[in-house]
Parts: sequence; structure tokens; C-alpha cells
Amino acid sequence: MSLPADGHLIIVGAGLAGYHAAYGVRRHGHRGRITIFGEEIRPAYDRPALSKAYLTGAVAEEDLLLDDPQDPLEVDWVSGLGVVGLAGSRNGTEPLGVRTADGALHPADAVIITTGASACTLPAASPAAGPQEWSAAIRPYVLRNMDDALALRDTSLAGASVAVLGAGSSPWRPLRPAARRGAASVTVVAGEENPGAARLGSPVGQSIRTAHEARGVRFAPPTRARAVRSTSGAMRCCSPTTHRSRRRSSSARSAHGRAPSGCWAPG
Ligand SMILES: Cc1cc2nc3c(=O)[nH]c(=O)nc-3n(C[C@H](O)[C@H](O)[C@H](O)COP(=O)(O)OP(=O)(O)OC[C@H]3O[C@@H](n4cnc5c(N)ncnc54)[C@H](O)[C@@H]3O)c2cc1C
Repeated sequence: MSLPADGHLIIVGAGLAGYHAAYGVRRHGHRGRITIFGEEIRPAYDRPALSKAYLTGAVAEEDLLLDDPQDPLEVDWVSGLGVVGLAGSRNGTEPLGVRTADGALHPADAVIITTGASACTLPAASPAAGPQEWSAAIRPYVLRNMDDALALRDTSLAGASVAVLGAGSSPWRPLRPAARRGAASVTVVAGEENPGAARLGSPVGQSIRTAHEARGVRFAPPTRARAVRSTSGAMRCCSPTTHRSRRRSSSARSAHGRAPSGCWAPG
């Protein structure tokens, strides 16, 4: 598929990849229309900052937006509207394009899919434990997008026991913001002993762990939490085989991993 210099390019997914795809195409001289569809209600922003400066309140939402208001990319942002399918037939009888959740068909000369990933969440509990009722004080949080970060930022952590589930490439970062915001304790529950070791190697993981332990962060013995549930005024992370409580906490933040988005696109 080649894109004529004045053709219409549709980018599905308004994340870092979508923004930089548009930036790159423009830099290489594309003069035609570029439309970026994003499920989220805001145009592309700097997601990594969500677990760092944004969580501590050091930067505002507008500081994270990738498009420079002084020198904006010439693109049409369509925010808050997800793409649900690709259109177009190989023999050209149906033009190439995308279908959005509102039922509309949007023709294009080329389509780039940059739908990234969604957070893997844990089931609230085993079916045997019955329905869970979370309160404002005791509830799990997920940190994947700006709204998630906003919810966490607006929650008082003063005196709370915070459990961070998962220790992949980024979850250790919010530990310091949590501690700074007055959490009584911060505990990491993860399948690996040292945060980030799977990607960054054991020596780096070990030094990240040591630095956090020096600031009072605790690391539970390696275990993969499979569910969270609320019992007797506390939240518990349950281990895979026994579902016995592993860790009591009043606030759990899940950084349990991610799964690719965009399952509607043909493989
Ligand atoms: C809290 C947090 C902290 C992180 N910290 C770091 C870090 O310090 N260093 C680092 O290297 N990486 C970090 N990462 C990872 C980094 O953010 C990702 O690698 C990066 O965001 C991937 O960009 P992307 O554009 O491919 O995907 P995404 O950021 O997932 O963006 C995809 C976008 O597409 C949208 N979308 C999905 N499906 C559709 C659809 N059908 N229609 C329309 N839109 C759709 C989504 O809503 C999303 O906005 C962090 C991630 C998180 C969540």
C-alpha cells in the first residue's frame, strides 16, 4: 500500500506511536490530510509521565500533551471515538478505510494501526468469594491512562497501606510518589524478585530494589497475585493456588501487565 503525497492517511490510536507516526509522515513531506482516531477523550499525551511527575502533581494535564500548541501538527484529532473495524476489499470493490463505533465509515488512502496495549486487570476475587463491594477508602486502582492517574491523584493516600501489583518495566516508579503522599506502607507484590529484572537484567533490578528498600518500600516474597478481594475492612491479594490472603492493604495499584489492543484488526 503506498500513500500518495496528497492522500488521506488515517491513524488508529492516539498514543505515542500514533503521534510520532503522524510527525514522521509530515516530516517526510506528506501534504495530504491526516486523521488520528483515539478512544480516549484527549489527544496524544506522554503516558510514561502518568506514574511519575503527573502522579505527584508536579505537572498539569496540558504539560503532557504531545502536540505543541505553538507549532501544532497539521492533523485532525478525533478524540473519544474508537475504531471498531477496517473496511476495504482486496479487489477494490469496497474502498479502504475504517469503521468507527458510531457506525460511520471513513475512507482513506492508507491506514496505520497504533492501538498499543490495554492493562491486564485481576479478577476481583474467586467466584466462591462472592461479589466484592469496594469503598472509597478500600479499592483497587489500575494505572494505564490519564483518567486512571487522575483518580489515583485525587485519592488521599495518607496513612494508607498501598500494595503495588506487578514489577515490570514501569511500576516501581509510582512507589516514591505514594510514599511522598503519606502512605503508611508501600509493598510490591510481583512474580519476580527484583523489579524490572526481566527486561533490564538482574543487576539493574537488584539496584532498583535496594534503592527502594532504603526508602522503606517492602517487597513481598515472589508470587503472582491472581485476584484481589475485600474482607473484614481490608483488601487482600490472593495467590494463584490457595487463594489465601497474601497481603493486606487499603489501596492496591495494579501494574500487572498489558495486552495488545486492537483485536478487531485482522491478524
Ligand atoms: C503508567 C505507565 C508508565 C510508563 N512508564 C514508562 C517509562 O518510564 N518508560 C518507558 O519506556 N515506557 C513506559 N511506559 C510504557 C509506554 O507508555 C508505552 O510503551 C507507550 O505508551 C506505547 O505507546 P503506543 O502509542 O504504542 O501505545 P499506547 O500508549 O497504548 O496508545 C495507544 C492508544 O490507542 C488507543 N486505542 C486503542 N484501541 C483503539 C481503537 N480501537 N480505536 C481508537 N483508539 C484506540 C488507546 O486508547 C491509546 O490511547 C509506561 C506505561 C504506563 C501505563
